[in-house]
Amino acid sequence: MSVYKLVCPACGERMRIRNSEGQTPTFRTIYGQCQNLACGLVLTGSMSWDYQINTSGMDKPRVVLPIAPSVAKMQALRDSRPASDQPDLFDQPLKEALA
Ligand SMILES: [Zn+2]
Repeated sequence: MSVYKLVCPACGERMRIRNSEGQTPTFRTIYGQCQNLACGLVLTGSMSWDYQINTSGMDKPRVVLPIAPSVAKMQALRDSRPASDQPDLFDQPLKEALA
């Protein structure tokens, strides 16, 4: 599992999310505090989910977001290719393509 490391914009040390409030299923207000005692910056901001990269496996997902433009572009390129049995770069699994 990877953990996103938040960095204090004032001193470059690690920030910790102290609290968050869900505003909608895809938008949260977050409150962060710098872990450097000499700095102690406290910030508020937001986090949002903007696009789907892969669809939910649920029958009736609570939200359906727009498909990410990069994924839509890759699909358009795939659809515009002449039919061929030869695999190319666009045939690799999506997770590898986005890594
Ligand atoms: Zn700091």
